[in-house]
Amino acid sequence: MGNCLCCAQKRPRHRQQQTFIGLNPGLEGKLNNILEQNPRYTPDPQRSHADIIRTKHTPTRNNQISKTRIVVAVYDYKERDVSDVSFKKGDRMEVIDDSDGDWLNVIHLTTGEQGFIPGNFVAPELSVESEDWFFENVSRKEADKLLLAEENARGTFLVRPSEHNPHGYSLSVKDWEEMRGYHVKHYKIKPLDNGGFYISTNKTFLTLSELVQAYSRNAFGLCHVLSKPCPKPQPQMWDLGPAFRDDWEIPRDEIKLIKRLGRGNFGEVYYGKWRDSIEVAVKTLREGTMSTAAFLQEAAIMKKFRHKRLVALYAVCSKEEPIYIVQEYMSKGSLLDFLRKDEGKTLDFEDLIYVAFQVASGMEYLETKQLIHRDLAARNVLIGENNIAKICDFGLARVIEDNEYCPKQGSRFPVKWTAPEAIVYGRFSIKSDVWSYGILLMELFTFGQVPYPGMHGREVIEQVEKGYRMPKPTSHYLPDDIYKIMLSCWDNKPENRPTFEFLTHYFEGFNVTSEIPYRRSLIKTIPRKLGYETKTIQKHETEYF
Ligand code: ADP
Repeated sequence: MGNCLCCAQKRPRHRQQQTFIGLNPGLEGKLNNILEQNPRYTPDPQRSHADIIRTKHTPTRNNQISKTRIVVAVYDYKERDVSDVSFKKGDRMEVIDDSDGDWLNVIHLTTGEQGFIPGNFVAPELSVESEDWFFENVSRKEADKLLLAEENARGTFLVRPSEHNPHGYSLSVKDWEEMRGYHVKHYKIKPLDNGGFYISTNKTFLTLSELVQAYSRNAFGLCHVLSKPCPKPQPQMWDLGPAFRDDWEIPRDEIKLIKRLGRGNFGEVYYGKWRDSIEVAVKTLREGTMSTAAFLQEAAIMKKFRHKRLVALYAVCSKEEPIYIVQEYMSKGSLLDFLRKDEGKTLDFEDLIYVAFQVASGMEYLETKQLIHRDLAARNVLIGENNIAKICDFGLARVIEDNEYCPKQGSRFPVKWTAPEAIVYGRFSIKSDVWSYGILLMELFTFGQVPYPGMHGREVIEQVEKGYRMPKPTSHYLPDDIYKIMLSCWDNKPENRPTFEFLTHYFEGFNVTSEIPYRRSLIKTIPRKLGYETKTIQKHETEYF
């Protein structure tokens, strides 16, 4: 459970920090030296993890200056190469160089090993980010998803930075009620002007840890006493290891192809392992289907653009044919196949909204980077554990200069997903991606039905030109408001279509407020009472839904 920061001296990990004995004499001296120079670090929960790690002299709440930066492992990590260092959750390390964005050069304070570690696996020691219950980059919708996992009991909780108040936080707690079943309640944690925090004005705390400790002992009007922190998902890895960050051509014999996953446009796709340990997906390029240069261009784009809703490219093997492109492995395959198979069919309405949100969020990132995808469809979204969705094949995108990209004549498009101006005039833009997103929504809410059922491509082009739009499905449940969003994505005028920023917020905020617990068996037959989280339900003075 949370630790009281004001009594930090009593914490066992602080005692460990006092002296290092039994190590080789040089190292022992060095480590003890570090400790002497390192005044107690008092965390400032209003600063982000990255800010703190990057600051050479970390200001503390008491305005002391911390000259060294000790980080503590929030997850286990197993070394992958000669240049990185293994560690276990709770291990402490001194940062000696943080100039690389992703990999910190550290000395492990127990083993004495020096090398690189992934920065997103650690947090500054005694900082709020090092607490098991603190989730730095989690949105409200993601918090719902994580907490609602079956293994989490009532009272499981997490604290996350507020999306609306830059100095505030939110406490998300899993609850259960007879009428609603399991659901998540979110409480605002507001900052006090003179430092400190509160949920309810009559109970104020100096630190977030104190607040969490207090509500772990007594609910004080919350829906439930805080029981245990929500398990944290493994952080995203962007490279196979520190050595492959910039040089990502790898020897082919380090990749073992284990199982064929599917057939792509350009070749087979396999599940495999790198150096017999790291799971990867390997796309192979059939000889003669595409130039090596074009393939590597796709790879370069994928490597450059990083977002948790885009599939990560790890490496390529391009020295011989067939070329391999080595990607993050997504265990449940393409969204289209997933929706059509048994497991996908068990997705409930909230899961569908969650997928819609994640895809919009990945596309919002491409929107800010001025990239267009040109082939957004359920077949190009991959699903991983916990219904995590990531966009793939964005390598077809091109950096655009005047908001618009005209492909060469003769290019083929997936007609049913492509906006009319892109088909007729070749005008691809982020707004033609919004059109495709609308089609993807229809695929999603009809569990993978082919768009415009019964119509051929040519007929679709002609009818859409004349103003025809896919009707609201009668076979599956789809709220009017989401259908209206689809229609807005299919506005004839690209400029009238919503932005991905809007779509992300829309699905992020979309909430099922049905009174009776949701049952999937009803999704296709009985319309549910649905709404958006625009109202505050005043069960508790600071609670919002
Ligand atoms: P292409 O873009 O060459 O047409 P796809 O990306 O569509 O190939 O891949 C074909 C199939 O391979 C997908 O439908 C999916 O089932 C599987 N696949 C592709 N990439 C991955 C991945 N990263 N993880 C898991 N499965 C994948």
